[in-house]
Amino acid sequence: MRAHPLRVHPARVRVLRGGNPGPGPVLCWLSRDQRAQDNWALLHAQDLALEAGVPLLAVFCLAPSFPNATARAYDFMLPGLAEAEADLAERGIPLCLLMGDPGEALPGLAREVRARLAVADFDPLRVKRQWRERACAALDIPVLEVDAHNVAPCLRVSDKQEYAARTIRPKIQRLLPEFLEEFPELAEHPHRLEVAPHPPDWKAARAFAAPDESVPLPPPEVGGARPGSRAGLARLAAFLDQGLDRYAEGRNDPNQEAQSGLSPWLHFGQVAPQRVALDVAGGAARGRAGDANAGAFLEELVVRRELSDNFCWHNPAYDSLEGAPDWAQRTLVKHARDSRQYVYSREQFRAAATHDALWNAAQREMLATGKMHGYLRMYWAKKILEWSESPARAVETALWLNDRYSLDGRDPNGCVGVLWSCAGLHDRPWGERPVYGTVRTMTAAGCARKFDVAAYVQRWKNPIFYQIG
Ligand SMILES: Cc1cc2nc3c(=O)[nH]c(=O)nc-3n(C[C@H](O)[C@H](O)[C@H](O)COP(=O)(O)OP(=O)(O)OC[C@H]3O[C@@H](n4cnc5c(N)ncnc54)[C@H](O)[C@@H]3O)c2cc1C
Repeated sequence: MRAHPLRVHPARVRVLRGGNPGPGPVLCWLSRDQRAQDNWALLHAQDLALEAGVPLLAVFCLAPSFPNATARAYDFMLPGLAEAEADLAERGIPLCLLMGDPGEALPGLAREVRARLAVADFDPLRVKRQWRERACAALDIPVLEVDAHNVAPCLRVSDKQEYAARTIRPKIQRLLPEFLEEFPELAEHPHRLEVAPHPPDWKAARAFAAPDESVPLPPPEVGGARPGSRAGLARLAAFLDQGLDRYAEGRNDPNQEAQSGLSPWLHFGQVAPQRVALDVAGGAARGRAGDANAGAFLEELVVRRELSDNFCWHNPAYDSLEGAPDWAQRTLVKHARDSRQYVYSREQFRAAATHDALWNAAQREMLATGKMHGYLRMYWAKKILEWSESPARAVETALWLNDRYSLDGRDPNGCVGVLWSCAGLHDRPWGERPVYGTVRTMTAAGCARKFDVAAYVQRWKNPIFYQIG
């Protein structure tokens, strides 16, 4: 029998490397999941620290740069981390902040405090995988990885790239009774460090990040999201009260507030997807939300979101045309030389300067608020395919714009959303058309059948939106 019970399902945990444990604290390397509560990685790190009777030290490594992250992203992330620091401190767990290449900074800290072992969180994206690999290569203590982001752990769900939602759905649903469980509390940690190393200086961190200031965090008055777990949980509560009941019917209408708006907090790990799933499923069980609404929402939050992690984990070309299914690559190549009625440069797209008022309005919504409505995101990306000189350039442009201006960008969902729209990922061939080949098209007329396009265009007309760089 273990002296301290482990509270985290073993299938969430993977050993990245073995080694001899040091005499010092357990390190919990927060990267994708930047919160104190509802965090399986922290819970596992705490269990291992309690078992060994040693302190627990949370650590965040701020890299000198991150692809396409602007001031908008840092001014959402850093205050969220400051809130996590305070929440952790209440439980006797210091957060230390390293600034530098995480592949080197984390091993440096581990040597400095003679760490017992390190626990990292799971992220399928290349840059994070490289950090973890380099950190592991430079360490000689055990390193574990915990999937703290997915309800059903990504590596447990499937060992291959899934074709579509229909193939991954039953695999996830089978696992939900086992994994969709309530989180235990992060306990007050009884073993303390005398002096915690590298206490955060958030001002210095902001200066170190030196992001592109021409893309600021939008203020709440224009619909910008407030950073931090508390604001994210408040948003969840408001959605449960006012949005969920309209979700199935209203989520494809950008003039309604029927979507949750939770993606920024989910992306930065300030709110756990599993917390959202538990609250939505619990609310439905108590009759607070109809089954159709809860079911439609959980399909997006769990099945579609976790399909994105599956794709990015298994397909190294997840952010380029080469990641698309063979049929889609073939049809797009066949139609690559089709004449295009409009061809725009990246700058014209950025400045919302196309001929299409609906497209421009969607782009302005993203520039102004850091968010574009989910239904329009599909139309927006498909039109970038239609009006770019090549499909490869379209994927590049759509990802650049999405990652630079969307608060929830730089996420597996963005890669999948762009490849779904531009290159048939997780979809099937449709009727053959110029430029698109057999990739599914979307039209302004189709949008007009779904919602009041003129009202949406009117809403995003204000020229202030052009000022975002
Ligand atoms: C071109 C394009 C780009 C996209 N880029 C991103 C991105 O960068 N980051 C991002 O999180 N999502 C992205 N999506 C997916 C989706 O549009 C957003 O998750 C959704 O609009 C976020 O708003 P919400 O939180 O109000 O969603 P809700 O409808 O309230 O859904 C709740 C959560 O479910 C998940 N979800 C919803 N729709 C999808 C979907 N189609 N695929 C995967 N997960 C989904 C998200 O985590 C979302 O926050 C993109 C889609 C497209 C077509």
